[in-house]
Amino acid sequence: MPAVFLVQPIPASLADLTRKQLETYYWQARNHDGAFKCAALLQHFFDLFPANTQVRVRTVDGKKTQDYIAPAGNRVILEWDMFQPKHLTAALVLPDNMTYITGGQDTAPHAAIGFPDPEGAGFTAILDLAALQYGDVGYGNKGNSLFLLEPVRRYAEHLTQFADENTFESAQISFAIGPTPEGEWLISVAKKAKARLEAKATTPWCGHCGAPPGKETLKMCSKCKNAYYCDADHQKWAWPYHKHFCAPSTPAT
Ligand SMILES: [Zn+2]
Ligand SMILES: [Zn+2]
Repeated sequence: MPAVFLVQPIPASLADLTRKQLETYYWQARNHDGAFKCAALLQHFFDLFPANTQVRVRTVDGKKTQDYIAPAGNRVILEWDMFQPKHLTAALVLPDNMTYITGGQDTAPHAAIGFPDPEGAGFTAILDLAALQYGDVGYGNKGNSLFLLEPVRRYAEHLTQFADENTFESAQISFAIGPTPEGEWLISVAKKAKARLEAKATTPWCGHCGAPPGKETLKMCSKCKNAYYCDADHQKWAWPYHKHFCAPSTPAT
């Protein structure tokens, strides 16, 4: 059985959770069995744009960075299995001490989006929203990376930390994921994401957690003036990635 995540001590209500605990719950529970929903959501999102829409792909692998433009229509869906996952179980304590546990299986099917190599040789980057669940309590992979969009080599390496074995190397490749029961809802979420992207110039979001401005305005990266953060912590956690693209003339994440 994979390890079970549970906040200790058990709080009397969600309001008693610290911010860190709440974020941990959020990411682990939300993404736990959501790999296919995440892949479907990304697919619906990209489907809202013409296939030749240019997508900027930026990844960091140690000191090596990739920064290229790829047509949105060239993305693929990758599906594979994770065996003996190590950190895939989320447990939630609901009112009246009911518990909700998800992800106790020995095999966890997984899906993510692959971006094409601009030279046309296979794909070079993986976009995996569900991978947030693997982070160090939701703050990215031990604070080193958001682990959302990664070069293939680094992504494959990360996967070995989260399950004893996987079949990523021989992942099944397709151009669309099948319909899911949440299709309509996912399409509405994708439309919201598109609207948000289109309003980015006037309403930016946090470069680490994606939060929109709340009561407090987001703080701008003073170096590039292109990235925004909730607070100093979120800026610090985003820095290992952002530092590679923190330049005044180029749009940052
Ligand atoms: Zn934030
Ligand atoms: Zn910056």
